[in-house]
Amino acid sequence: MERVAIITGGGRGIGAATARLAGARGYAVCVNYQRNEAAAREVAKAITDAGGRAIAVAADVSNEGDVVRLFETVDWELGTVTALVNNAGILERQMRVDEMDAGRIRRVFDTNVVGAFLCAREAVRRMSTNRGGRGGAIVNVSSGAARWGSPDEYVDYAASKGAVDTMTVGLAKEVAGEGIRVNAVRPGLVATDIHAAGGEPGRVERLKATVPLGRGGQPEEVAAAILWLLSDEASFTTGAIIDVSGGR
Ligand code: NAP
Repeated sequence: MERVAIITGGGRGIGAATARLAGARGYAVCVNYQRNEAAAREVAKAITDAGGRAIAVAADVSNEGDVVRLFETVDWELGTVTALVNNAGILERQMRVDEMDAGRIRRVFDTNVVGAFLCAREAVRRMSTNRGGRGGAIVNVSSGAARWGSPDEYVDYAASKGAVDTMTVGLAKEVAGEGIRVNAVRPGLVATDIHAAGGEPGRVERLKATVPLGRGGQPEEVAAAILWLLSDEASFTTGAIIDVSGGR
C-alpha cells in the first residue's frame, strides 16, 4: 500500500522539514500552504527532484471548504491519505491577556484548533476501517506552550495548544479500534519564522539558556519524532504526547 502524507503548513519551518523527511522515507507528500506558494513549491520540487512524489496545495485549514478541497485533491492526485500531520499553526504579537481582542483570539483558535479538527475529520473519514478505509496515523503538532502557559507573550496560543493536546487524547481513544493512531509532539524553542510573527525574531537566542540542553532545536529534530510516530515502529503508541524540547 502506498503511503500518502498530508503535511499542513508544509512549506516552511517544522512542516517543511517534516515534508522533506517524509519524501525521503518514501511517502507521497502533499505540501499544504496558506500564502507562501513559492516556499511550498520548493519543498515539493526537492522531493520530486529526489525521485519522490509530491504536490503543493493551497488551503486555509481554518476554512471548511478549503479543507474538504485539500483532501479531495490528494484523493485524485496522490491517492487516499494514510498519514496526516496537523502542523499549520499561528501566533500573534506578544501581549498580555488584558490587551487581547476577540478577533485575535478567534484567529489563533480558528487555525490551531478548528483547523486541526477539520483536517482530522477528513483524515478519519478516509482512514477508518469502519468506513471501509485501511487505517492510518495522525500526528498533531502541539507546543510546550501548552505546559508553560506563555505569560506576557501569548496565553491564547498556549491555550489553543492545550486544546490540541486534549483533542489528541480523546480522538486517539475514539478511533483506536478503527486502525488509526493519533499522537502529538510538543516542540520547545525551535528556530523558525514563527518567533518573528510574535514580534521577537531573536526569541530562541534570548531563551536558550533556559533549555537544559543549552540550545534551541532545529526543525529536523522535530520532524524525526513526527516521522517515528507516523511509522509502524510506533505501532503500540497512541494518545501519546512527546516533548521535543531539549528538556525544557
Ligand atoms: P512557521 O515557520 O511560521 O510556519 C507555519 C506554517 O503554517 C507555514 O507554512 C504557514 O503557511 C502555515 N499556516 C499558517 N496558518 C495556516 C492556515 N490557516 N492554513 C494553512 N497553513 C497555515 O512555524 P513553525 O515554527 O514551523 O510552526 C509549525 C508548528 O509548530 C505550529 O503548529 C507551531 O505552533 C508549532 N510549534 C513551533 C515551535 C517553534 O519554536 N518554532 C514551538 C512549538 C510549537 P505559509 O507558508 O503559506 O504562510
